[in-house]
Amino acid sequence: MKRCQEVVPLLGPHIDGALPDDDLAWVDDHLRGCASCTDRKALFVAQGDALREVLSARGAAADFTGFAGRVLARVGNDRAGPPLRAYGSELWGAHKRAFAAAGGLALAGCMASSRSASSRRTTLPSSPRPAPRFKWWTSAPTTAPCCSFPTTRR
Ligand SMILES: [Zn+2]
Repeated sequence: MKRCQEVVPLLGPHIDGALPDDDLAWVDDHLRGCASCTDRKALFVAQGDALREVLSARGAAADFTGFAGRVLARVGNDRAGPPLRAYGSELWGAHKRAFAAAGGLALAGCMASSRSASSRRTTLPSSPRPAPRFKWWTSAPTTAPCCSFPTTRR
């Protein structure tokens, strides 16, 4: 025979008729031989009936006239606060390790690219540079074609 502690959690589903057949057999067998569990089951049934009766009475007595209007009036009185911002630590803080790793990889890639480019440069034969066609180091003011104020070139 099963113990009462194993039967009590199954009393609710037994009352609702939701017990599987294999559990229903041994729970019924226990209830036939245990007055305590039978009384407990009767108490659960009485509590369920009382709750059902009270809720039915309240539902019948409730007045829902004007309910939608009262809800809308209450919602209309609520002022919306400032818009929520999802920038900053909420958005980026969760991924800061991924950003740091990506930044580190990008930095390492730049360093490797720069190193290979500089080593490649030393192996290439040097070619003479053509002479500049204008004096780019002059400091005479000129006017840029897109704007009217003078700029200086160095
Ligand atoms: Zn029992």
